[in-house]
Parts: sequence; structure tokens; C-alpha cells
Amino acid sequence: ADTVLEVRDLCIDYGVGAGAVRAVTDATLTLRRGEVLGLAGESGSGKSTLAYGLTRLLRAPGVISGGEVLFHNRPQSSAFGAAPNEVVSAGTEIVDLLGADMAKLREIRWSQLAVVFQSAMHALNPVARIDAQLTDVLKAHRRQMSPTERRERAVELLRMVGISADRLRSYPHELSGGMRQRVMIAMALALEPQLVIMDEPTTALDVVTQREILEELMQLRERLGFAIIFITHDLSLLIELADSIAIMYAGRIVERAGADELFHAPRHPYSLGLLNSFPALHGDRVRMEGIPGSPPSLTALPGGCAFHPRCPYAMDRCRTETPQLVRPVSDPVRTGGEDRVAACWLQDGLQEPPAPLHREA
Ligand code: ATP
Ligand code: MG
Repeated sequence: ADTVLEVRDLCIDYGVGAGAVRAVTDATLTLRRGEVLGLAGESGSGKSTLAYGLTRLLRAPGVISGGEVLFHNRPQSSAFGAAPNEVVSAGTEIVDLLGADMAKLREIRWSQLAVVFQSAMHALNPVARIDAQLTDVLKAHRRQMSPTERRERAVELLRMVGISADRLRSYPHELSGGMRQRVMIAMALALEPQLVIMDEPTTALDVVTQREILEELMQLRERLGFAIIFITHDLSLLIELADSIAIMYAGRIVERAGADELFHAPRHPYSLGLLNSFPALHGDRVRMEGIPGSPPSLTALPGGCAFHPRCPYAMDRCRTETPQLVRPVSDPVRTGGEDRVAACWLQDGLQEPPAPLHREA
């Protein structure tokens, strides 16, 4: 009942007709209010395409070729500075994002559903000071605020993301990559959205900064109550901080599970491979094995399960039949929340060794 976003069988292509390639196939997700969903997978697996598609920010030649995206819009009174239980919720309106007209999209985007882009550098206006960029957002969407109120709100927002008052007059190029990312987050939160999608520039930010930023975002979520979709290559970060995780491979979500479940009992060999590719942040030293080979080109996807050429568990069936996302037979049926699902013919084979992580003494 407390759903904020539903994505059903979303398909996204680049190009049309004979030259089209499918970059996202049948993506299905449900996000609850306040939930942090991590989206992980190797480069090119379709994470950004999925995020841009479901928010209708996809650019040509990207086209949505099927599916449904429902945003459960629940406009709320200002949560800013108020405890979450003071938030008065009005009725929930279900908005079909794929069918919505531009006026509706403009109303929803940014104010209810904010996206922090993969390249923060390009999303900020290079010739405007950061305080002005924030007050401009407020000016456009909160006409009833006085200039003084806008100014105070801008300072408060920047303070919330750890940018001190002496930086307010800076231009984007005077800030580090991490600081620019924080400014982007402040802008995304300015209108108190119900959902924030953050496409992490893993290549641009170092691991420590990335971690700090996600941790800050999580603290703000505690206070403001928004849900987060966080996109990253770094599965270990998600294991620690996300509530649930979706793993993508070659445009498909191949496994969805709670962060703990995924860590302790991955059901898809690709998830297991990703877990083995990262050193654990805490505890014993971990051997990094990675996954042999590289992801397929979208123009030459292997038949059956696209992961089969790299899969140590591949069986005959995997080469010809594409597995759908199903609940592994040994996993309990959930009463509340979503079932965990995996798209693998092996299903429960991963309960046996090899363990998710090989720990060294
Ligand atoms: P990364 O981790 O590197 O950001 P990603 O998981 O976000 O990767 P996407 O950027 O969504 O992956 O790309 C998914 C697939 O779509 C890739 O194979 C990519 O080459 C292809 N693709 C992305 N943009 C376009 C485009 N404009 N035209 C054609 N193909 C594209
Ligand atoms: Mg991306």
C-alpha cells in the first residue's frame, strides 16, 4: 500500500526498426516510500537507461518500447525542518509517467521525483554562483516564497549537504567533484521530492567521497522521508547502505533481493560474481576474483540467458531458454513487501558452496 513507484515490464530501445537495440528488457520494480533501492551491474548493463526511461528524460535515439511506470504521487505539506510524523499526507494520486503529458511531467519532475545526473558538472550552470542556482529553483517552483525566505532556504539546503556558508558565492568550477555532487543533491532536495534517483558518477568520484555522499543522503532521508534509487558499480556500498538491491545484466534485472539476502545468499551466478569482485569494507580480507570475460554487445546478445557464456554453472537449457524472474523455490513467500526473485534456471543451486565471499584467514 505504501508504494511510491511501480515499474512494470519496461522496455527501452536505442533506435527504431531493423537497427534498434534493446537496452532495457522487461524491467519490473516496486519501490516503497522511504526505501533505498540500489541498482548495480557492470558498465553498459542499462542502469542509466532504465533511470532515464522511467523518468521520461531519455534522449533520442532512446525510445520506450513497452511497459508501464506508475508514480504514486502524494503531495505533502512541507516536511522541511519538521519531524516526519508531522507531515500531513493528502490523498495519493497515481500518475502514469509514460502516458503523462508534458505539463504533468513538469509538475512531478523535480518537485516530486528528482534526478541527480551521472555528470553533475554538465547539469550545473557554469556561469551562475551556486546560491543563485538554488534560489532560481525555488523561484520557479515556490512563487509564494519571499526572496529572503528563498535565500534562507538555499543556505539551509547547502548546509544540509555539508557545504558551508563561505562557499555560497562559488561558481561550479571552483568546487571539487564531490562538492558539485553535493550541490546537485541540494538542488534535487530543494522541493522535497518523494523520490530521488541518483546516478552515481563512479568514474569521477573516489570511493570515499561516493560513500560519504550516500551516507549523507541516507541521513537526509531519515529526516525528509524520500525514497532513493541509487545507481552504482559498487555493490559493496549497496550491501551496506541499501534496503534492497536490483542487479542488472545486459539490460535485464537478473536478481532482486533485500541487501542482506543478496549478500548472504545470492541466487544468480552473476550476483555471486559481482559480490566476489569487491573487497569487503569490514571484516576479513577478501580475495577478489571478478567475473571472467566481459558483458555482451547489445547487437549480439547470446541466446537463452545472456550471462551463460560467462557462467560457471551454465547448463544446456541456459543456452536456449531465457529464464524469467521467479521466486527461488526454497525462499519463503512473503506476506508484506515484495518477494525476492532471480532469473536463473539454477535457482537454488547457489545455496551450496561456493560461499558468497571467500574469506582468507
Ligand atoms: P555505466 O555503468 O557505464 O553508466 P549503464 O549501466 O548506465 O553503464 P547505459 O548507459 O544505460 O549503461 O547503457 C546501456 C546500453 O545502451 C549500453 O550498451 C550502451 O552502449 C547503450 N547506449 C547508451 N546510450 C546509447 C545511445 N545514445 N545510443 C545507442 N546506444 C546507447
Ligand atoms: Mg550509467
